[in-house]
Amino acid sequence: MVDAKAAKARAKPAGNAPMRSGSSIPPHAHCRICNCPVDVKADPRVCKDTACIEELDRREASERRMRTWMLIFFGLFAFTFIGPVLLRAAG
Ligand SMILES: [Zn+2]
Repeated sequence: MVDAKAAKARAKPAGNAPMRSGSSIPPHAHCRICNCPVDVKADPRVCKDTACIEELDRREASERRMRTWMLIFFGLFAFTFIGPVLLRAAG
């Protein structure tokens, strides 16, 4: 009587479910551009489509440009605060 309950409890171990309910899809990643499945180890994470590779290139270039501008603006912004303090300290 008690055995059945114990067996049931044992059959449901905590944290031992490698896959989510039923699907046997191996671990994979998605292309950042077209979202088709690609190899997890793919780096950069795009498929082999030339259009996707070019699009990623374009995105990264614009991202880099954006980051550079952000840095410049932040530098200027910081300088408007720090600059006068430094000048006063020096003078
Ligand atoms: Zn793609």
